[in-house]
Amino acid sequence: MKGKIAINKELCKGCTYCVTSCPRGVIAIEKQFNKMGYFPAAPKHPDKCTGCAFCAQMCPELAIEVWITDNNKDEKRTARATSAPGRVSKGGRAVGKKRTKRA
Ligand code: SF4
Ligand code: SF4
Repeated sequence: MKGKIAINKELCKGCTYCVTSCPRGVIAIEKQFNKMGYFPAAPKHPDKCTGCAFCAQMCPELAIEVWITDNNKDEKRTARATSAPGRVSKGGRAVGKKRTKRA
């Protein structure tokens, strides 16, 4: 089983959470700005990816998608969809801070 990641550079703010969380050293920060003026992350050693999805779980911008490749079939993981703080859902209900009405 092998992993595969895709990073949306234009969503990335260069926080490096994904770089430091990857146990295989797959991700590095690029030397060129993206459109927002940040140095974005990119998969520099994609062959080393195991698909653990730590990087996607750490990304506050939902910029990373992870797949597991098995028997030449790509299986999309749900790590990206449930990784943002406040966007995690349980039983179809959003979990996060409760909004309060202004007086
Ligand atoms: S899925 Fe795991 S091994 Fe692959 S880049 Fe992300 S943290 Fe690294
Ligand atoms: S965690 Fe997300 S926002 Fe931060 S550097 Fe990685 S891809 Fe960019």
